[in-house]
Amino acid sequence: MAMREKSNARKLLMSRQIIRKNSEDWELIPNLLDYDAARDHFSWEHEMTLLDGLPAGGLNIAHEAVDRHAAGDRREHTALRWLDKSGEVTDFTYGDLSLLTNRFANVLRELGVQKGDRVFALCERIPSLYITALGTLKNGSVFCPLFSAFGPEPLRARLSIGEATVLVTSEALYRRKVAALRENLPQLRHVLLIREQAEGNLPADTQDFQQLLNHASEEFSIENTDPEDPALLHFTSGTTGKPKGALHVHEAVLAHHASARLALDLHPQDVFWCTADPGWVTGTSYGIIAPLVIGATMIVDQQEFDPERWYSILRDHKVSVWYTAPTAVRMMMKVGSELAKQYELPSLRFMASVGEPLNPEAVMWGEEAFGLPFHDNWWQTETGGIMIANFLSQPIRPGSMGRPLPGIEAAVVRLDKDGTLQVIDDPDQEGELALKRGWPSMFRTYLYEEERYQKCFHGEWYLTGDLARRDEDGYFWFVGRADDVIKSSGHLIGPFEVESTLMEHPAVAEAAVIGVPDPMAGEIVKGFVSLKPGFEAGEALQQEIMALARKRLGPAVAPRQIQIEPTLPRTRSGKIMRRLLKARELGLPEGDTSTLEGNE
Ligand code: ATP
Ligand code: MG
Repeated sequence: MAMREKSNARKLLMSRQIIRKNSEDWELIPNLLDYDAARDHFSWEHEMTLLDGLPAGGLNIAHEAVDRHAAGDRREHTALRWLDKSGEVTDFTYGDLSLLTNRFANVLRELGVQKGDRVFALCERIPSLYITALGTLKNGSVFCPLFSAFGPEPLRARLSIGEATVLVTSEALYRRKVAALRENLPQLRHVLLIREQAEGNLPADTQDFQQLLNHASEEFSIENTDPEDPALLHFTSGTTGKPKGALHVHEAVLAHHASARLALDLHPQDVFWCTADPGWVTGTSYGIIAPLVIGATMIVDQQEFDPERWYSILRDHKVSVWYTAPTAVRMMMKVGSELAKQYELPSLRFMASVGEPLNPEAVMWGEEAFGLPFHDNWWQTETGGIMIANFLSQPIRPGSMGRPLPGIEAAVVRLDKDGTLQVIDDPDQEGELALKRGWPSMFRTYLYEEERYQKCFHGEWYLTGDLARRDEDGYFWFVGRADDVIKSSGHLIGPFEVESTLMEHPAVAEAAVIGVPDPMAGEIVKGFVSLKPGFEAGEALQQEIMALARKRLGPAVAPRQIQIEPTLPRTRSGKIMRRLLKARELGLPEGDTSTLEGNE
């Protein structure tokens, strides 16, 4: 009975679709109009013909992102529009960016920083961060962004694991967080400080970033990097444990370009805003590289989330494509759609989200607040770029991550007891989400954890660590991370479906479920929720939420307990940390909390 109710709830969920427009109604023809044809005609070789390559035969991300536009008719086009904390605007054209990044590449070369050396950045979202990233790539060095709110210990760990040769940071962050670590970082040869005022003494063993930049030449010939040369080092979010250092190569730019065109529908005339910080992979792949490779204008806002500010940015800067995350969507939902509706946003034509499951409620809320749905897409630090997406021209299935991008093969697989991998062709079966190896932005190792890297692969398949199911039309549905799945009375319960149901209750702002040990059932489902403003925590509300879940999901799957919390623990990138809820519930050690929000 319980299983039947569950599958009915699922069927209902899976049958909803949002169909946007007839193909003849598009003002701007989508880059992907026919999904099957796009997949059939796609090849990475053809993708390469859409880029330049280097004169000596190599491939370099910064050339594709900046110099090829600066050398052509987009030279005067705004590449980066920066809004400082007060909202003041500074524009950089492709020409400007080309010269500034040449200067920074020269700074590195003059300091003796070599191809393959690692250049770390610990900055707020300021122009120097973007100049550092792209200048580093021009020099053939490896760029590694650090999130500016990290405390000293996570910084030490990453700088040391990543063997940083250079650190670019602000004077204030350096004094507060890094100076005391210097003696433990012998390989860190150069610290370049961005200073608010060029007066007073620099801290010992540091140099002035701006001065070096001012004295460097604007002429630079890009290092002839090979497509397989390392380019980017990204640490994962630490949602499931200690962050891993995923290494990516210059060839990744093919996937950045293809996914920006096909999954985000980016066109050169777009104004694109990716709200993620470059400290996380989304903020680099899509907050620096992808929009520039397209030749679009990208918005960078120094300030943190604030709904009124965000809506003003969308309106005042005529943002046309907006890429954000479920955590931000939930925060906007908490404030309510009335505020959003006060802003006229005629330029906005596409909204997408990544990073966590996007509950169907959130997809639909986009329609209510902005007249556009959010398009969920899925990828990981390891995949370097979007792998599965709801496309602009295709029906959205709210609650589904969408379908694999052209060039990407995804499957649901299971490992037999003897370790053989089975690809599950039948629809609606749960298993691990796997990708056929070999796409350009696939990570090439976990830094100094090669064995762990190798373990992610079975033959031609990369195992993602996420559980999913595929429906008969090829849409993938997130079930939960393999670590978070709950085993209750013989059922495997994915947290996402339960959480999405809890989110349907009008009082619920955020929800997370975990399994807690139970002598009878093995595990029972426990839900944690935080509330929208205006709702009072209490027994009656707990019961009401539980009753809704039982009605929708059936008693075998619905949470047996609901706990109301003021907020749920999250990573700094906004992901709910279920493992922490579980450790706290069971009185176990919390493990690595270096990426926990509010932890310094
Ligand atoms: P760690 O690997 O250190 O535990 P993490 O997996 O959160 O951290 P990221 O690489 O930033 O680090 O996140 C990728 C993961 O985020 C995916 O494997 C998936 O679990 C989740 N995710 C991303 N996008 C989606 C989505 N659209 N729907 C569901 N889950 C998503
Ligand atoms: Mg992960």
